Amino acid sequence: MSDKEAALANLQKIQAEGLAALEAVTEQEELEAWRVATLGRSSPVMGVFSSMGAMDQDLRPVMGKAANEVRTTLEAAFEAKRAALEEAALLKELETEKLDVTLPGRPVERGRLHPLTQVLRRIIRTFGDMGFQVYRSPEVETDDYNFTYLNMPPYHPARDMWDTFYTKDEGVLLRTHTSGGQIRVMRERAPEPIRVILPGTTMRYEQLSARSEIEFAQVEVLVVGEKVTFAELKGTLEDFAKRLFGEEARTRLRPSHFPFTEPSAEMDVECFVCGGKGCGVCKETGWLEILGCGMVHPVVLENGGYDPARYSGFAAGMGIDRSTLMRYRIDDIRHFRNNDIRFLRQF
Ligand SMILES: [Zn+2]
Repeated sequence: MSDKEAALANLQKIQAEGLAALEAVTEQEELEAWRVATLGRSSPVMGVFSSMGAMDQDLRPVMGKAANEVRTTLEAAFEAKRAALEEAALLKELETEKLDVTLPGRPVERGRLHPLTQVLRRIIRTFGDMGFQVYRSPEVETDDYNFTYLNMPPYHPARDMWDTFYTKDEGVLLRTHTSGGQIRVMRERAPEPIRVILPGTTMRYEQLSARSEIEFAQVEVLVVGEKVTFAELKGTLEDFAKRLFGEEARTRLRPSHFPFTEPSAEMDVECFVCGGKGCGVCKETGWLEILGCGMVHPVVLENGGYDPARYSGFAAGMGIDRSTLMRYRIDDIRHFRNNDIRFLRQF
């Protein structure tokens, strides 16, 4: 027998012994021991690789190829054995595991939208149907946008209508209303016509009670263009009220005053609790106030970049919290933001 034949026969023997040993393996631990012994660094097949340096030049390629084939065969056998053992273990587990299919399933907890979010989304959808865009403006605002540009320069008495949270930075505050966004959208769009709503959170420094909170949601309405009239204001807001409260909802406008609109008004809707007869919710008047509105003041238009001689506009602002209180007949405004799951589950 030549050296070459002897070496090849040795390789065949290594392979046959390895496969035979694998045949006897029945456990994962045994399999790992087999892998170390048969394919590990000091295994016979690896020994063949490391002894190749001492072989004759013409013998090396033949032996290298043969040793590689043996290693590949052993590795494939190992993988097959491992898969077979895993499957066997799984089958055994399934056989012994007891599953009671008559047990009731675990209930799935379903979330809901916060009542304020529901009302806000309805309002946004309603204005969306009427062709309005949604514009977002910052909750931390400058004194200029919150007051000065809205026709309330420093020391203007109207500033006292809002108790304001000021920050440590001079002239920076938490917005007391969404109206500051009016200036932002006008400066961004001038001289294009505007038809937007500005929903968002506003903050006022107030004594907490069942009727007042320091944080509340508002929606601002702004329309600017050539020949925008008070009749359009009335028509748009009446249309909105009917879409939101129903076709039979009656509204009325009462004169009012705001520094940033002239003339100004407040809109009431007929009480949807008593139908106008008078009840506790409407304080026996038959009417519920839903928003303040008016024609945009010329000073505000000018601060927004529109020439008041050519352009006009109207604005409206409504609080979401109060109307949500009325709609769901909630007795305490503080329920909205104390995250009590028992309260939120009711909507
Ligand atoms: Zn009523």
